[in-house]
Amino acid sequence: MTAFDPERYSRQVRFTPLGPEGQARLAGARVAVVGCGALGSVVAMTLVRAGLGFVRIIDRDVPELSNLPRQVLFDEADVAAGVPKAAAAAAHLSRINSGAKIEPVVADLTPTNAETLLGGVDVIVDGTDNFEARFIVNEYACRHGIPWVYGGAIGAEGRVMTVLPGTTACLRCLIPEPPAPGVMPTCDTAGIIGPTAVVVGAIEAAEVIKLIVGATVGLGSRLLACDLWEGVWKTIDLSSLAEQGCATCRGGDFPWLEGRMGTQAAAICGRDAVQVAAARPGAVDLAALAARLQAFGAVTANPWLVRAEVEPGIQVSVFADGRAIVAGTRDESKARAIVARYVGA
Ligand SMILES: [Zn+2]
Repeated sequence: MTAFDPERYSRQVRFTPLGPEGQARLAGARVAVVGCGALGSVVAMTLVRAGLGFVRIIDRDVPELSNLPRQVLFDEADVAAGVPKAAAAAAHLSRINSGAKIEPVVADLTPTNAETLLGGVDVIVDGTDNFEARFIVNEYACRHGIPWVYGGAIGAEGRVMTVLPGTTACLRCLIPEPPAPGVMPTCDTAGIIGPTAVVVGAIEAAEVIKLIVGATVGLGSRLLACDLWEGVWKTIDLSSLAEQGCATCRGGDFPWLEGRMGTQAAAICGRDAVQVAAARPGAVDLAALAARLQAFGAVTANPWLVRAEVEPGIQVSVFADGRAIVAGTRDESKARAIVARYVGA
């Protein structure tokens, strides 16, 4: 068992179901948090405070002012500096708990990098805002038998489901196909209040802690759904779905993980922005790009990205892995054109 500071965690250890053995398991555990926005911030912060030994933070985005009402790991200085969320989160988390190993990964989870980014952890937690990433996580988890926790938050409504591959229903059992674009409410259309994210993130973190300490109570095929505005909490029994299983958790079908499903350009939930994947994955010479973009306007450059306003109201951020985020539009073809024009395909 890994050592931990008994004074620091004395109140947690006093909680009988956790105890010193559970605390030692937390210290030795490795968790990946996929997406570090509203949910991911709460999950990562709660787990690092609880004494998790290793937390990998995977996020593709940079913080904006409109994130601050609910994304508890970021502040105005992070927004001004244009530091990617994964890196900003890691800096804050290291100050919260210097004993935790935090691994920031500034990247979009894709079929190409999923095996690397999700590898070597005991539990995966969903902090994303999109079903494409969730389906990749679900398929990776089912393929490798890794437990994962699904969380969703929109408006005042939250959902949490823990997936134990081979035991419980999986995400595809619950949602056979991801909803088509425009069908489901998003945080753009329906908005979101901060407490929803805090509650859902906290429940997800509790599920992770239970998984790591080996608690079995309350870990079955079920979906927790809450509405903080209406004050309604429901637990929906999914055991009949689990008995049937689906093509992924029973049949070994992994269309998202194998790249047979997915998009190249996608509007980002909660932002007037589109992400454009690199046509050819590979490292970008950020210094050379920064020099080139200076002709169009003020450029922000740091080790992770180069950002410039290339046209009035249109801001492009190019990351070291070649990915770009075009802010100021939700038009995917316009975003692709902007990237082709200023960054090059
Ligand atoms: Zn399934």
